[in-house]
Amino acid sequence: MFPRMHCLAKVALALQGGGRRYIGLTCLNGVRTLTRGLSNSGAAERGETHNNENELYDIIISGGGMVGTAMACSLGMDPNLEGKKILLLEAGNRKVMDTVPESYSTRVSSVSPGSATLLSGIGAWDHIVNMRCKPYQRMQVWDACSDALITFDKENLEDEMAYIVENDVIVAALTKQLETLPDNVKVQYRTKVVKYVWPMSYQAAGSIPWVQVKLANGETLQTKLLIGADGSNSMVRKEAGIPTVKWNYDQSAVVAVLHLSEPTENNVAWQRFLPTGPIAMLPLSDTMSSLVWSTSHQHAEELLEQDEESFVDAINSAFWSNDNHSELIETAGSLFRTALSFLMPAGSSARQLPPSVASIGPKSRVTFPLGMGHASEYIRHRVALIGDAAHRVHPLAGQGANLGFGDVAFLTQVLSQASFNGQDLGAMQHLLEYETERQRHNLPMMAAIDLMKRLYSTNSAPVVLLRTLGLQATNAVPPVKEQIMAFASK
Ligand SMILES: Cc1cc2nc3c(=O)[nH]c(=O)nc-3n(C[C@H](O)[C@H](O)[C@H](O)COP(=O)(O)OP(=O)(O)OC[C@H]3O[C@@H](n4cnc5c(N)ncnc54)[C@H](O)[C@@H]3O)c2cc1C
Repeated sequence: MFPRMHCLAKVALALQGGGRRYIGLTCLNGVRTLTRGLSNSGAAERGETHNNENELYDIIISGGGMVGTAMACSLGMDPNLEGKKILLLEAGNRKVMDTVPESYSTRVSSVSPGSATLLSGIGAWDHIVNMRCKPYQRMQVWDACSDALITFDKENLEDEMAYIVENDVIVAALTKQLETLPDNVKVQYRTKVVKYVWPMSYQAAGSIPWVQVKLANGETLQTKLLIGADGSNSMVRKEAGIPTVKWNYDQSAVVAVLHLSEPTENNVAWQRFLPTGPIAMLPLSDTMSSLVWSTSHQHAEELLEQDEESFVDAINSAFWSNDNHSELIETAGSLFRTALSFLMPAGSSARQLPPSVASIGPKSRVTFPLGMGHASEYIRHRVALIGDAAHRVHPLAGQGANLGFGDVAFLTQVLSQASFNGQDLGAMQHLLEYETERQRHNLPMMAAIDLMKRLYSTNSAPVVLLRTLGLQATNAVPPVKEQIMAFASK
């Protein structure tokens, strides 16, 4: 299914020197200049033209979403890449937040501790915490067809399992951080790339050895390395002719901001698997949560059109109703649970009840079509893909952006090492290390997410019975749960 995987021996090579990644960040922090980024983006905001026709950059990042902006910060702050000319191109507006809006945004991400470490290393995490972010300590996932459940807890309840952060807050924090970097890191907003021209992989007389990036405003730029961070419809991926395995799920996600019936500690992320798809309630504050309800396209449309009261009833019923229970499976599940509690008394964890929803934020209901996609190659000569441009997953595990931040961390490490060794940043040799390591991490995660989606998309009795017993057994064995948590925390 995924034709190109490289030998794992390269991973060991790639990991060498990994410790140096963020050494010296503190010292760089001291020389940041606030004005550079502001004047750049200000010019873009005002629609001024940039007189940089045919200018050659060391690295151009195409796409300034969460992942591309993190990439620009991460490269810009790496001491080994100091002085390298880096440019971030984003088709949309510059996103900053001088004051945090009172109402929550509908687009949120569950940010893993591994991603929080990356964001902290590049100086954005403090901005996020100062703006708005909600840690949670527990996750409860359960099956609507049997009520078999699994809970993930941090052993020490002081520790955070993950954080719910609005996507706009993440981008605003990264943008703020980007604007403190020295002059060699530039950003152009409202700048759409319309075409790429690829160099030959060998030196030919008279040919341009760099990637040419043609902009909608008519300019052409050149770069030694192009990083495609332009999302799941990546033009970089398509124009580079990189084969992609992809399919659409027969589902859309309905997202909304939820007001809870009463204030609670709200430190649990809830997810219930309905036969039509998973519904998740993610904590935002003591009184608010965020909804991600994956369901059939038709049902999503109906949910969008319902009046607020019916929509709220539908959410509460989706979390509470036992309509999908079968007596046979309940009996089998309960017998198995009892047997497990004798065998592993420490393994069972108490079922908690989710909060009920009272209303939704005004105009907060939106839908997104869901799909899976994986670029079978993340790299080409002078090109690397990161984030959704390389891999797109179902939101049921809250991993899409986290996988992208993992790409950022590892690609920075590889490019830092190459720069330290005086190598060409666009050369295949070290880009291959990036591809190998990230595919080794991303593919098992993507396969697990896809399997979960399929396993829970049915209410056929044998499958329900099998997954009920499997979920209960996994819940009863803490070391297995710890392994799952460790994998998802990266
Ligand atoms: C309902 C839902 C819930 C989710 N929940 C989670 C979660 O809890 N945790 C998690 O980790 N992930 C989650 N995800 C996934 C996450 O949102 C994505 O993985 C993430 O947004 C991808 O970021 P990106 O920067 O790679 O791509 P994008 O966000 O798509 O950004 C791409 C950027 O490139 C720019 N661009 C595109 N083309 C061009 C061009 N030609 N020229 C210039 N710029 C261009 C665009 O303007 C855009 O800003 C969820 C996704 C959905 C749909």
